[in-house]
Amino acid sequence: MRAARLERLVRGADLCVKCGLCLQACPTYGLERNEADSPRGRIALIQGLAEGRVEATASTLGHLDGCLSCRACEAVCPSGVPYGELIDDTYADLVVRGVVRPSLMNEVLSRWPVGLGAIGPRALAVAARAARLLMRLGGARPSTSSGIGRWLRLTASLAGRTGNLPAYGTHGARHGRRGRAGLHLGCVARLAEPSVLHAATRLLTAAGYDVAVPEGQGCCGAIHLHRGFTAEAAAAERRNARAFAAEACDAVVSCASGCGAVLAAGACRGKEDGAVMPEVWDISRFLLDHHVADLRFRPLEARVLVHDPCSLRNAMGQHEAAYALLALIPGLEPQPLDGNAVCCGAAGTHLVLRPATADRLAAPKVAAARTAGAAYLATSNVGCALHLRLGLAGAPDAPEVLHPVELLARQLDD
Ligand code: SF4
Ligand code: SF4
Repeated sequence: MRAARLERLVRGADLCVKCGLCLQACPTYGLERNEADSPRGRIALIQGLAEGRVEATASTLGHLDGCLSCRACEAVCPSGVPYGELIDDTYADLVVRGVVRPSLMNEVLSRWPVGLGAIGPRALAVAARAARLLMRLGGARPSTSSGIGRWLRLTASLAGRTGNLPAYGTHGARHGRRGRAGLHLGCVARLAEPSVLHAATRLLTAAGYDVAVPEGQGCCGAIHLHRGFTAEAAAAERRNARAFAAEACDAVVSCASGCGAVLAAGACRGKEDGAVMPEVWDISRFLLDHHVADLRFRPLEARVLVHDPCSLRNAMGQHEAAYALLALIPGLEPQPLDGNAVCCGAAGTHLVLRPATADRLAAPKVAAARTAGAAYLATSNVGCALHLRLGLAGAPDAPEVLHPVELLARQLDD
């Protein structure tokens, strides 16, 4: 198995003709102007590691760790280099070699949503208010780049957003019945965005879908996958496949594109135990293609900026749906946020593990959002929403950051 992976790595890296067309698309090259922090440089390191010519030194790993896995390079590469697979496979091999081990931080990051979820939305709301109070008592705003300040601000940003989830079980179609959709809750999304999950349920049931929310579903496995822990990622995938296959859903929808991209690309699909995951859709694309246009929406004279998460744009290729969905609201003007082709810096765990870089990448987007005079900033990924909210926090001219389906559900005339 390792030999096959190494062969795949060398074959994939060999496709790179070193043209450099990807360099200008790469956010980390844009920041550092260092070849080793570019896609071409990382591909050379990946190939060298696979062929045993390059040592897995701290410096080599630092350049690979800096990658945001945004896949902007893949989108512009004329040779079809499968960069996302290359970086994931490289980490899987580093784990096999014992070079990358489960770190305490990664354990915390992969388990904290479950832990926080267990304490319930009320306790979480108290924690969020306490964090706000601590920040106020602390006087100056804690730096977004310091460890404790970062956690404090993240927790405080959940104030007013925590709440109960849509109940497990089936939520029946409200107007006729056209099919059955499974709702993936996500781990961070279930804590930070319960209103998004309620909005999705409301829109789906109004469009004629039974919505299944199986209790047996779980984390999509993205954090494990991108760190090379493939067994854990496959276990997460099997768990979801079993849960949704048992519900006989026509499709599974995700309201967090970071999760949706991993669920949609799942390789094993739980085939070995007979549980096949239904097709996975981003919620905006699903609604748009499945009768939401038949519904009535109250007018809203406002401008909404749309942020394209990399996972939706480069991995799922479904970013255009959010604009068309928002345009169903009479009077609303959706327009792209400046710099949408560049990652906002949230990038999975970068938001917490590399906050200084994450903030440098967010800064131009935050500035563009503040000066555009828009009332709303819509994004379809929970990590991006958390990160952009942190950047905009306290700014008097900040638009409200929300998910496209939240705005749509607010205007639904039913
Ligand atoms: S654009 Fe593609 S082929 Fe060209 S350097 Fe980048 S990865 Fe290699
Ligand atoms: S995935 Fe993103 S950060 Fe990583 S090399 Fe490609 S463009 Fe650069």
